Amino acid sequence: MLNRRLEEVRSRIRSSALKGGYDPDGVKIVAVTKNVAVERIAEALELGITSCGENRLQEAEPKIKQLPGEIRWHFLGHLQTNKVKSVINLFSLIHSLDSLRLARAMEKRAMQMDVDVPVLIQVNASGEESKYGFHPGEVEDFIMEIRGGRIKIRGLMTMAPYFDNAEEARPIFRQVRELKERIKIPGVELEYLSMGMTNDYHIAVEEGANMVRVGTALFGAR
Ligand SMILES: *Cc1c(COP(=O)(O)O)cnc(C)c1O
Repeated sequence: MLNRRLEEVRSRIRSSALKGGYDPDGVKIVAVTKNVAVERIAEALELGITSCGENRLQEAEPKIKQLPGEIRWHFLGHLQTNKVKSVINLFSLIHSLDSLRLARAMEKRAMQMDVDVPVLIQVNASGEESKYGFHPGEVEDFIMEIRGGRIKIRGLMTMAPYFDNAEEARPIFRQVRELKERIKIPGVELEYLSMGMTNDYHIAVEEGANMVRVGTALFGAR
């Protein structure tokens, strides 16, 4: 079951990347394992999954401790400043740097812990009030503000609203890809573009996503 679903996701990524003119092997799958039991996550690892995404520290922590140490864990959710230390300790990439306040707390912690913290900046490209993240026009100034410290900006992340017709998400993905291409700041390499979930990853990859976050497509409805 999981095997077949993973094959399906890989094959859709491949055809979307080719359609958009991108290298299909350059697209990383982050298996979103929220609400998924450790036994099933272990199954996914056997099928070649190497990166898992969680959006709540409380749920993630016991799973991370039970599963093999080689897994790269990605933090996807809104992060409260009082959880920064634990998240830095447990996760290899934080997709959800969404405010200057959080960046300041993270920088302070990273300095105390003497570690670098790889992050993606969350972009709210749809302008929905309910979504966290920077508006596209704020991203460059924000990077200028925080660069040069222990926070290492590795790229951008966005979430499109849910559309029955995923095609409607295309302009949002395109806008964030163009933003990534436009930003040229010395010492900052925006390598990753984390966009696309079960409903819309095929469109996101056509628009240049090189990291997709899929849960339901792999593990079924939760
Ligand atoms: C849950 C979640 C996903 C995965 O959603 P699916 O629709 O199950 O693929 C991706 N990104 C974030 C930030 C999430 O919270």
